[in-house]
Amino acid sequence: MQTYKMFIDGKWEDAANGDTFETKNPFNGQTWAAIPKGGREDAERAVEAAHRAFTSGPWPKLTASARGHLLRRLGDLIAENAEHLATIEVTDNGKLINEMLFQLKYIPQWYYYFGGLADKIEGAVIPIDKADTFNFTRNEPLGVCVGITPWNSPLLLLAYKLAPALAAGNTFVAKPSEFTSASTLEFAKLVEQAGFPAGVFNVVTGFGADVGETLTTHKYVAKIAFTGSEGTGRKIGELAARNFKKVTLELGGKSPHIVFDDAEIDNAVNGVISGIFAATGQTCIAGSRLLVQRKIHDQFLEKIVNLAKTARMGDPLLTSTQVGPVTTPPQLEKILGYINIAKGEGAECVLGGGRPDNAELSRGWFVEPTIFSGVRNDMRIAQEEVFGPVLAVIPFDSDEEAVHIANDTNYGLAAGFWTQDMRRILKVSAAIQAGTIWVNTYRVISYMSPLGGYKHSGIGRENGIASIQNYMQTKSVMIST
Ligand code: NAD
Repeated sequence: MQTYKMFIDGKWEDAANGDTFETKNPFNGQTWAAIPKGGREDAERAVEAAHRAFTSGPWPKLTASARGHLLRRLGDLIAENAEHLATIEVTDNGKLINEMLFQLKYIPQWYYYFGGLADKIEGAVIPIDKADTFNFTRNEPLGVCVGITPWNSPLLLLAYKLAPALAAGNTFVAKPSEFTSASTLEFAKLVEQAGFPAGVFNVVTGFGADVGETLTTHKYVAKIAFTGSEGTGRKIGELAARNFKKVTLELGGKSPHIVFDDAEIDNAVNGVISGIFAATGQTCIAGSRLLVQRKIHDQFLEKIVNLAKTARMGDPLLTSTQVGPVTTPPQLEKILGYINIAKGEGAECVLGGGRPDNAELSRGWFVEPTIFSGVRNDMRIAQEEVFGPVLAVIPFDSDEEAVHIANDTNYGLAAGFWTQDMRRILKVSAAIQAGTIWVNTYRVISYMSPLGGYKHSGIGRENGIASIQNYMQTKSVMIST
């Protein structure tokens, strides 16, 4: 069994009280690593180290170009270690090796892109209406930033936060999910190797109630960047507001995926299937509500059922596997619970609907790809985030009805639709209330393009050039001439 340590102030450390917790492989349920169970004391130590690194030591004296150089070196190290990092995440969260290798091809880009921005942060000279005063602005870093991440894509979601935060000159404390801490600790080895000064990047492992809350409320923490569930986001938002901390919240989704009757059907079928079943449905952007125009509903449903039926479930480390396990036992129970709720609500289960009847998979946390037809948008299966391989299919007649159903949710993270009609593309993409809209594609993400939620899906945007502003504050300097 592998034993990990936390990374605090440039040193590898156990939890102050020596406690650890186990992390299990979702494919076979076996414990494969022991992780330090950090507590309040460890979280405080990490924040204090990050505060020291921000206020004294080599980091604040580095030029912006030197910060950019370090970030680009980190990007190179991630690329060189992609296979190792991918294997660790597959072992820890059950995501497919193919998906992870694809993700790791892109994760370095966040460090290259924001590394390139580090020395392009400029202030302004403002011609204020006072003849005897010279006014300019500086964009300054905030201080200690905290990144709290969920279990579904630990390294990718960390990159969204860490790369702009360091580019802007902040220091950082990362708290990965208690279910998937290992890859962030492996990543910290690369930060060390890249040559970042001690305390600039720290990782505290442990649970939300103690480590997470300490990081959220500590007086030295200026900013919290959180990705996770709506419930935790609400708690963090409340605490941050009480203490005037800046916050970005990337929360859940119940994304509508609409297929109009003029869609290129085969492309739409592939898009819908990967939209919901990639990462076993455990993505915030999963297209979990499928809205199909009534004229093509039955034909389209048959096609997606036939394709989903062929998906090979199995060992996520094998490149031939198409559907892996879900990440945690509570998640498995939650998904099975929602399947029962949907059946109870009168939706018709046309595929899957339980654990696979396969002895080889019985030790892991597998759920069959599941499709419900005859869903009404007011059912819980259409309103609540399942975060699993469960698709709810809803028929519609007109464009107006599709948009109404799409928007009839508390969430607004993403949406997709398939049509060849340009007027419809422009009208529907304007009418849907979601932070990202995909047309004739699904699931495209870029470090260059803003990502974030409308409504309960969050506050703020990550990625894209403007996201570096999440990690800066503007000072106006007035000089009497
Ligand atoms: P979660 O909210 O349970 O946990 C996320 C993180 O918050 C973990 O590190 C956890 O330890 C920590 N945490 C828990 N309680 C805390 C507290 N009181 N204070 C501070 N930190 C605390 O979420 P999860 O189950 O790990 O992840 C799944 C959720 O993440 C889904 O809702 C999904 O939609 C969302 N998600 C959103 C995006 C996005 O970009 N919008 C991306 C991925 C996942």
